[in-house]
Amino acid sequence: MSVQHPKLNAKRMARLVEISRVLNATTNLSHLLSRIISEAAELTQAEAASILLLDPKTQQLHFKASSNKVPPEMANMAVSLDDSIAGAILTENKPMYIQDVSQDSRWNQNVDDAIAFRTRSILGVPMHNVAQEPVGVLEALNKVGGGDFSVQDFETLSILADIAGVAVEQARLFNELEQANAELNELDQLKTDFIAIASHELRTPLSVILGYVSFLRDESGPEMMEQFDNVLQAAVHLRTLIQDMLNLRYVDAGTAQLTRQQVDLVELVQDMNLEQDETAAAKEQTVHVTLHDGNLPVLIDQDMMEVIIGNLLNNAVKFTPKGGQIGVKVQRQGREAWFHIKDSGIGIPEDQLERIFKRFYQVESPLRRQHEGMGLGLSIAKELVELHGGRIWAESSNQHGSEFIIALRLELPPTGLL
Ligand code: ADP
Repeated sequence: MSVQHPKLNAKRMARLVEISRVLNATTNLSHLLSRIISEAAELTQAEAASILLLDPKTQQLHFKASSNKVPPEMANMAVSLDDSIAGAILTENKPMYIQDVSQDSRWNQNVDDAIAFRTRSILGVPMHNVAQEPVGVLEALNKVGGGDFSVQDFETLSILADIAGVAVEQARLFNELEQANAELNELDQLKTDFIAIASHELRTPLSVILGYVSFLRDESGPEMMEQFDNVLQAAVHLRTLIQDMLNLRYVDAGTAQLTRQQVDLVELVQDMNLEQDETAAAKEQTVHVTLHDGNLPVLIDQDMMEVIIGNLLNNAVKFTPKGGQIGVKVQRQGREAWFHIKDSGIGIPEDQLERIFKRFYQVESPLRRQHEGMGLGLSIAKELVELHGGRIWAESSNQHGSEFIIALRLELPPTGLL
C-alpha cells in the first residue's frame, strides 16, 4: 500500500508552525516574500526558490521574489498562464514536479538567463488565498546535491504555500488599508489647511463688522435696537465658529505651544462659573457643578483647558433639548483628577463613541444636520488633552444623554516622604 500523505516529521511540523506565526505577523510584502522563499529553499533543501503572484487584473503571473535577486526588469516580465510551467500549476491548481525542465516545452530559458541561474528541476505548488482561490505559485528549484525532491518536500512546500498565500493576502490588505488611511489623513490635512487660511482671512473683516455694529447699536434709537441686536448676535456666533477654527493652530503647533503651570483644577472650574453659562440659560437648561472637596493640582495650560471645557459645554448645550440638565463634576480618582460633563441630551450611538473625536466627524450627516458646528470641537479637545498627557473619552446610552470624561495626572508630592 502506498502512503499518500506521509506524515511530516515533528521537527518540520514545528518549524512550519513557527514560520506561520512569523509570516502572519509580517505586514511588509517584500520582507514577507523573501522570508517565504528562503524558508522554502531551506526546508526542501533546494538550491533556490521563487514566487510568482497572479495579477488579478491582467491574469498574468509576475516574479515577485527569488533566492537570486530578481532584477527589476524581470519583476515586470509577465509570465503567461498558457505556456509556462508556473501557469500550468496555477490553472490546473495542482502541484507539479518537473524533474528535467529541458525536456519540458513550457520551460522558458529567458528566466534563467535573467537571474544567471541554471534550473534543472522544479517542484512547484499553487498558493491559495483565504477563499481557496489560487493566487500564485511557489517553486523550489534543483534539489541540493542533484537528487530528487521527496514526497515530504512536496508536502512541506504545499503547506508553506498555503500559509504564504494567506499571509500575502493579509499583507496586501494591510498595505491597501494603510494607503487608504494615508489618503484620508491627506484629505484631513487639506481641510485643516483650508480652515486655517479661511479663519485667518475671516477674522479681520469680522472684527470690523463687530466694531461698527456695536457702535451703530449704541448710537441708534430704541426702534432699531432689536435689528442691531440680531446682527450683533449673528456676528458673535460667527466669531465663536472662527475661534474654533483658529484653535486648530494650537493643536498643530504641538507641545511647543503649551504654557503649562500648576493649576488647581477645582479652582479653575469654579472660576469658569459654568452654572451661569448664557447659552445654557438661553435654552433654559440647568448646569449643576459638583466639585471635589480640596485641591486637585494639575500641570496644565490654563487657557487651553478652558478651550477644552468650553467645547465640551457647548456640545452639551447644543445636543440637549430645551430645559435639559447638564452636570459637571470634578473628582479625584486615584492619582488622577477627573473632569466629567454629563448631559440629558440626544446621546451618541455606541459605535460612534471613538469616531466623534476625529477631525470633522459628525454623527449627523453634515448636509442634513439640525445642529450648527464643523465637527472640530471634540478633535481639538482630544488633541489638546493628549498634548497634556491626559485622556478623554465619551460614554453614552441613547436614552440617557452623553458623558465626557477627562483624566489628568495629579501633581502630588512624592509618596513616602512623611
Ligand atoms: P460639532 O459639535 O461642531 O459638530 P464636535 O467635534 O464638537 O463638532 O462634535 C462632533 C460630533 O459629536 C457632533 O457633531 C455630534 O454628532 C457628536 N457630539 C458631540 N458632543 C455631543 C453630545 N454632548 N451629545 C451628543 N452628541 C455629541
